[in-house]
Amino acid sequence: MNLPPQLPDLPLFRTIADAAQELGYPAYVIGGFVRDLALQRPSKDVDVVCVGDGIQLAQAVGRKLPNRPRVTVFKNFGTAMLPTPDIELEFVGARKESYRAESRKPEVEAGTLEEDLARRDFTINALGLSLNAEDFGALVDRYNGIQDLKDGIIRTPLDPDITFSDDPLRMMRAIRFATQLNFDIDPDTFDAIARNKERIRIVSQERITTELNKIIMAPKPSYGFKLLFASGLLPLIFPKMALLQGVEKRGQHAHKDNFYHTLQVLDNVVETRADLWLRWAAILHDIAKPATKRFDPKVGWTFHGHEDKGARWTPNIFADLKLPLGEEMRMVQKLVRLHLRPIALVKETVTDSAVRRLLFEAGDDIDNLMKLCRADITSKDHQRVARYLRNFDVVEQKLREVEEKDHLRNFKPVITGEIIMQTFGLAPSKAVGELKDAVLEAILDGQVRNEFGEAYPWLLALGQRKGLEVKQELAAPPAGE
Ligand code: ATP
Ligand code: MG
Repeated sequence: MNLPPQLPDLPLFRTIADAAQELGYPAYVIGGFVRDLALQRPSKDVDVVCVGDGIQLAQAVGRKLPNRPRVTVFKNFGTAMLPTPDIELEFVGARKESYRAESRKPEVEAGTLEEDLARRDFTINALGLSLNAEDFGALVDRYNGIQDLKDGIIRTPLDPDITFSDDPLRMMRAIRFATQLNFDIDPDTFDAIARNKERIRIVSQERITTELNKIIMAPKPSYGFKLLFASGLLPLIFPKMALLQGVEKRGQHAHKDNFYHTLQVLDNVVETRADLWLRWAAILHDIAKPATKRFDPKVGWTFHGHEDKGARWTPNIFADLKLPLGEEMRMVQKLVRLHLRPIALVKETVTDSAVRRLLFEAGDDIDNLMKLCRADITSKDHQRVARYLRNFDVVEQKLREVEEKDHLRNFKPVITGEIIMQTFGLAPSKAVGELKDAVLEAILDGQVRNEFGEAYPWLLALGQRKGLEVKQELAAPPAGE
């Protein structure tokens, strides 16, 4: 740690100080940037608070900078942004806020520095560094934020019931910072989250999801989910995930707790430097287990079809959470649907045809799928884990061999519906679809290669067996195919 935090030695900060002095506004660098200086975390967003008009200060600083950057003013918020080569500056006048119960939009009035610090979310975010001539660079720490940084504690500056009730998003932020920084949440602050959890309902889903995604991108996201669960927030913001928790027993048979299993899988994929979407696939891979759970006296607990149901749910879960519904969602959906397939391959003797089918269905997502499957082995028995992982090595070797031979990853069948219609003089119909599927199956089975010279004669022979008349025999695939 870098204590006390030191302002970086940049002319920029002197320039701000000069402009503030000319206007007669005491000014401070405040909040996250100061915290991150102390923690030696890289950070580029600098928030400047002045006791005065923040927009005026921003404009005055803009005029003093050599390249005269454009100031962007947000009149409604009383803030202004100023881009500089290394640092994004945001200016605001010190303010106090008063809240009404039904909304997280406060009434804002000009205030003192003390009032401005008091409305901040956590003590570690209520630190300031002076930009004033008399004590340039001096630390402002009214709420013992430095001690909390040293101790690794998230704590509100004021009564946490008031801080959280005023702006319930801060409950998500508390858990997000605890997860990102691997800090504890102070017990009084944590209890207040549990007491005020229902207030999260007035926060927009977009803002909740922004915090949730930051938790998911942290080095150990399981910690954040455990805090969300323990505080009671998880059932409110993501009920299906909360339902994974719990173990049911019938006689000898207990199933594993799918919540803790899912968190282990999530932490495991993080180890593979997974992006946000592979992490979401880990979160959702068993999401439909509670809905498919059955007890069969002969075999114990089963979750048949949880992968298909989970995949069917994925678009709605994404929509509810206001996550994007494009390519990312489809990748997650595909991984959820296919997550049992590589394990199934391990169990039987691996045939080329099974490998081909998997490659065809997974396409470019095959690497992510294998990462997910490896992460999904969470047995406490180390030898068992090692055995499974070795089996996966065999599958992956096979995947590579078949891929090299057949190039199936982004495979497009050479025999299109167009070709079939031209050849047999058919109109678009179910019959065309069936012929196309038959060719595809033959290719995946390894009976023919995905090349016109092999697949087309196979199609002609199939047509003959079905009594179809050849209207036009093609010598090569039509241009543009
Ligand atoms: P990060 O940039 O990593 O999200 P940050 O602490 O910089 O972390 P910002 O959202 O950029 O967070 O906010 C900057 C500062 O504004 C915070 O450090 C905190 O002092 C204050 N702040 C932000 N959001 C809130 C809030 N909802 N309630 C109270 N204070 C807040
Ligand atoms: Mg910030």
